[in-house]
Amino acid sequence: MANPEDFFKKVIAHAKEYGYIFASSEIYDGLSAVYDYAQNGVELKKNIREYWWRSMVYMHQNIVGLDSAILMHPKIWKASGHVDAFNDPLIDNKDSKKRYRADVLVEDYAEKLEVKAQKEIAKAKKRFGEAFDQAQFEATNDRVLRYRQEKQGILDRLARSLEAEDLADVKVLIESLGIADPDTGSKNWTDVRQFNLMFGTKLGASAETATDLYLRPETAQGIFVNYLNVQKTGRMKIPFGIAQTGKAFRNEIVARQFIFRMREFEQMEMQFFVRPGEEMQWYDYWKQTRLKWHLSLGMGEENYRFHDHEKLAHYANAASDIEFNFPFGFKELEGIHSRTDFDLKQHETFSGKKLQFFDPELNESYVPYVVETSIGLDRMFLAVLSHSLQEETLDDGSQRTVLKLPFILAPTKAAVLPLVKKDGLPELAKSIIDQLQWDFNVIYDEKDAVGRRYRRQDAAGTPYCITVDHQSLEDQTVTLRNRDTMEQIRVSIDSLALHMQEAIAYKNWLA
Ligand code: ATP
Repeated sequence: MANPEDFFKKVIAHAKEYGYIFASSEIYDGLSAVYDYAQNGVELKKNIREYWWRSMVYMHQNIVGLDSAILMHPKIWKASGHVDAFNDPLIDNKDSKKRYRADVLVEDYAEKLEVKAQKEIAKAKKRFGEAFDQAQFEATNDRVLRYRQEKQGILDRLARSLEAEDLADVKVLIESLGIADPDTGSKNWTDVRQFNLMFGTKLGASAETATDLYLRPETAQGIFVNYLNVQKTGRMKIPFGIAQTGKAFRNEIVARQFIFRMREFEQMEMQFFVRPGEEMQWYDYWKQTRLKWHLSLGMGEENYRFHDHEKLAHYANAASDIEFNFPFGFKELEGIHSRTDFDLKQHETFSGKKLQFFDPELNESYVPYVVETSIGLDRMFLAVLSHSLQEETLDDGSQRTVLKLPFILAPTKAAVLPLVKKDGLPELAKSIIDQLQWDFNVIYDEKDAVGRRYRRQDAAGTPYCITVDHQSLEDQTVTLRNRDTMEQIRVSIDSLALHMQEAIAYKNWLA
């Protein structure tokens, strides 16, 4: 599976074929950038959520959970800045009728200059071999310097225009760089316009009395407006955190890339309230803690990297993304943001209520600072799914498709397979299901030859196959087959739960 584009298509097809993800409203030709989680997908998603929740809430004595409503008072989005500033600049191509984010078109152009610089560096490396001093080359080579200077100039100008909301200048920039529609090559552009990403809706029975509301574009604000309630009723002392998972909605301008960018998606967010002045140490702590969580799933250290932001959002004094190596390259999976006291202060102003915390150790009141960790559950799902899908050539030369999901996240932990459909084997297999289903999601499968059933479970991501044969009737033992090693061991039926428990204990993964 060398070509990343083909591989990504394979991931999408596999997600459908094995009951992970369906396009929403498929029989009506789908709804753009909205997806449904199928029988296996819903389990994988639930397991990822649970893995996050346990690590954040159960493993931190000073973090508690919350489930706030999707619909909130409309003033909240005024206070948070979303009504005025949650915009993306969009541009349409008049010939192709395709819509793009104007800033992304310019950024992609700038990135191409960086690619050219990298090519020069690679060429020189090859030419000079061992003796190559990369740092010196980058600092002195004319071409590299020129490419990077041009790139920086473009990005600076874009940042200035966006900051000043000078959208006409963004268009001038696109035209002067000769940027064309990536799909068709046309340079026939409309003006650049701001587009608010929030979905509006109405509350109330009649048109005259209805109130305009928004579907929340992030779960964070539900935490901010509840922070003092939680602090008081939970008798929380700073520093403490509130964790929440739930749906968020964004009317994304360009939503391609499957579940990477959806219009309805789920976030897992934690807001950590700290003393003013201590936010940077907590920001560093959460950056490292969140990276460790990702690494605990064993999907390869080389597939993660931090991207520290230079340009900060209006509410932040530091921000970094954890990027993952998706089939289409490294992209943001999670954000860690030091949000200062911006949100709470804004809510004080807009609500007229004091949101201060009395710190008994300092004997003073203050509005806490906030460090946030925010990860998209669907993006995490895509990271896990795409990383796990593998094509293997076996010793006998045959191929197998295997979905090597981390055992702890796999939707079904074991399939119980009677070798044949007679002689009392199905009955024994079903009695094993009866025992195991108290603690594990297990399924029964008797259709086709056992080899084909193994392949089917490999492709679906099931960690174990338990095969019941004639010997099982005599000595109450079965074979336990491991999806990844394909090794089979003979174990007693009584010990199955213990074997499986060991492999999926949270302690063994999270610790
Ligand atoms: P991007 O730059 O990719 O648009 P963002 O910086 O706007 O993302 P945040 O507002 O920081 O994202 O949201 C936190 C997390 O929520 C992101 O790291 C991502 O995992 C997830 N997320 C954001 N937008 C979407 C979306 N449209 N679909 C799926 N997940 C999303």
